[in-house]
Amino acid sequence: MSNPTTPEPSHDPSVSAGSSGRSPIEDLLDRLVCPMAHAPLRREGEWLVCTRCGPRFAIVDDIPNMIIEEATLPEGCADLRRLPCVLAGDARLD
Ligand SMILES: [Zn+2]
Repeated sequence: MSNPTTPEPSHDPSVSAGSSGRSPIEDLLDRLVCPMAHAPLRREGEWLVCTRCGPRFAIVDDIPNMIIEEATLPEGCADLRRLPCVLAGDARLD
């Protein structure tokens, strides 16, 4: 009665991914732009920040939420219509 005891955790979410190279999100960030005026984004921890108009997009489980209505607007900007790119006419609100 041979019993190959290979202890295998039934549900292990921590799959050991290759630790070298860029994470998928880094690649994604290179291509992501602000949905407002397509300005480049900068990563700040768990946020993506538009380098032009300043809203912060939350990154949840490595998925950036690029919905502008759900972004955190920069200080002093209470309304999407007050964003610099909208005021400059480079972004449109539908
Ligand atoms: Zn922007």
